[in-house]
Amino acid sequence: MSGKVSVITLGCSKNTVDSERLMKQIQLNKIGLIDDPNEAETVIINTCGFIEAAKEESINTILEAVAMKNSGKIKKVIVAGCLSERYKNELQKDIPEVDVFFGTENYEGIIKELGGNLKKELLGERLLTTPSHTAYLKISEGCDHPCSFCAIPLMRGLHKSKPIDELIKEAEFLAANNTKELIIIAQDTTDYGKDIYGKRNLAELLNLLSKIKGIEWIRLMYAYPSTFPDDVIQEIKLNPKICKYIDIPLQHISDDVLKSMRRGVTAKRTKELIKKFRAEIPDITIRTTFIVGYPNETEKDFDELCEFVKESEFDRVGTFTFSVEENTSSFILGDPVPEDEKERRKNVLMEIQKDISYQKNKSFLGKKLKVLIDSTDGDFYIGRSYRDAPEVDGEVLINKKNNKINIGEFYDVLIDDFDEYDLYGNLISKERSL
Ligand code: SF4
Repeated sequence: MSGKVSVITLGCSKNTVDSERLMKQIQLNKIGLIDDPNEAETVIINTCGFIEAAKEESINTILEAVAMKNSGKIKKVIVAGCLSERYKNELQKDIPEVDVFFGTENYEGIIKELGGNLKKELLGERLLTTPSHTAYLKISEGCDHPCSFCAIPLMRGLHKSKPIDELIKEAEFLAANNTKELIIIAQDTTDYGKDIYGKRNLAELLNLLSKIKGIEWIRLMYAYPSTFPDDVIQEIKLNPKICKYIDIPLQHISDDVLKSMRRGVTAKRTKELIKKFRAEIPDITIRTTFIVGYPNETEKDFDELCEFVKESEFDRVGTFTFSVEENTSSFILGDPVPEDEKERRKNVLMEIQKDISYQKNKSFLGKKLKVLIDSTDGDFYIGRSYRDAPEVDGEVLINKKNNKINIGEFYDVLIDDFDEYDLYGNLISKERSL
């Protein structure tokens, strides 16, 4: 049996869920877990292989662990996850000091390597690395979409939904361990069920999850725009436990760019979808992300994107610069837009969004919001409203002076200040908000 193990997680929330599942299995095998890799005997790195910057971070983390092994600080280095899934042979050749490489979701292999046995029947259980009151629920893995810039299907395979009964069991486990907010994730959450139930039934899943005792908020992320299910819009609209929030990466708005990106959606249909969201759910918070500097993006295309962001007034916008990825269908287009021009476009778009976000936040002055308290920082309690997903969106800050608060609870907060990204407020009552 291995001595103490430290798990380092890189990349997205889907990797976080994989690590939490692995760490639970390590715990169930009575193998010691430790946060600090310097104190461990074995270091496991759950890597990301999405874009250049993420790959670099993964390789640097591997090299740091190998340096610790070479200095005798640790005995074993195990590498897993997306980068390893995608470049196993190259990594084995270039970094032979790594003891073993695993792909994605190979819990059995890793547990065996540590001298344990996989507790298959308990794979739905997780050791949370997020605050216990909020947890990600990964409802499927892989993706069937052919987006030209994306390497994820190369690492995660095609779309594979998790059966509803397993997801309910996992969510009940989380709720029994104090989770109040479930954040629904996948590569494309709207495709849920099509492979195992012959129809897309995300709405049914959301409804069943909302019936679990203790779950108060369900937040939908990673939705795909091309054929957004109407029954999901109705479920968000009518179900009080589903946050009036949607994360829907649009990537671009120019028809030429969308076509080359193989997104299967047009500018017209995208605008119609946003309009439908707002018509059906007027106070919905819309988060989206865009890629700038895509090979065939002209100045005119970029201007069109800027106009679209101005007129659409999204609540939250993230912007990435195009990263050329081998074995994706856009690889043959090369990378003609210079890096500094990509950065310029990214900054222009984020400046536009900053003003919009400022005005949106201003509109919450004097309003009451239900806030889930995540942590404290200096003089403030840090919380989030229905408008804020963890790590990527804004926060609600409550001054510690005059406010006594429990982490992990909901409170009604009166908003009395704001800036571009965050809101500030005070408790309306000392009682938890139900
Ligand atoms: S939807 Fe497109 S961008 Fe998202 S994971 Fe699938 S292929 Fe990649």
